[in-house]
Amino acid sequence: MIRFEEVSKTYPGGQLALSKVDFHVAPGEMVFLTGHSGAGKSTLLKLISLMERPSVGKVYINGHDLSRITRRDVAYVRRDIGMIFQNHQLLMDKTVFDNVALPLVIEGYSRKQIYARVHAALDRVGLLHKQHNPPATLSGGEQQRVGIARAVVNRPPIILADEPTGNLDPALSLEIIRLFEAFNKAGASVFIATHDLGLIARMHYRTLTLKSGQMINDGLTESGAEL
Ligand code: ADP
Ligand code: ADP
Repeated sequence: MIRFEEVSKTYPGGQLALSKVDFHVAPGEMVFLTGHSGAGKSTLLKLISLMERPSVGKVYINGHDLSRITRRDVAYVRRDIGMIFQNHQLLMDKTVFDNVALPLVIEGYSRKQIYARVHAALDRVGLLHKQHNPPATLSGGEQQRVGIARAVVNRPPIILADEPTGNLDPALSLEIIRLFEAFNKAGASVFIATHDLGLIARMHYRTLTLKSGQMINDGLTESGAEL
């Protein structure tokens, strides 16, 4: 599903962000990615979501070699990936419904399909009753759930999250992780970058650890185990 082969990334300024990183995430796996600030987590996620290109090595998503795909295929690969950010980047002048509907509107789905999918996604994250509200009237945890609904509304096979619990307290953080578990159980591959080691310690998922751009640990144990 996601495969890195000897991937290194040096930014134009000469900063080495990733060094010979090798790993593979199988379909239906749920994996945490951790490491200190500056370890290379965001860079690794940007390589998966095609926001950056590797300097050396290969990245494969869903069998596509990202160094060989055409501009048209970039949009195609991105459609398979639901991205969740720490600052959910919601449109504050739109309703919750319209925020979640946005990716489907861009894809040209019919009104009927949009209604059904947005309702299903909001129901999944427990926010159907707030669909007509503007995001500003929601709590931080609720806004994060709207961001998650928007990321999964087109049912992507890969869900990527960058510090999704960064601004949340431990109880709300766990709630968010439970949501990811539910999508994972429904078949999605889930890849979560976080420096919240307390949260990871409470989980029993495979955890990849970056240090100064190197993958120093790949905890291939108890992946997907029940808590
Ligand atoms: P993390 O997400 O783990 O905090 P990053 O991937 O953001 O780590 O950063 C890894 C290294 O690459 C850091 O030294 C950072 O300063 C550097 N870096 C990140 N983005 C850029 C960029 N656009 N240009 C130059 N250097 C960058
Ligand atoms: P439905 O089949 O009516 O959409 P589900 O309960 O299966 O109902 O899914 C509800 C929502 O959860 C979906 O609309 C989608 O947003 C999300 N979802 C479900 N399965 C996946 C998946 N495998 N990957 C991503 N998102 C999913």
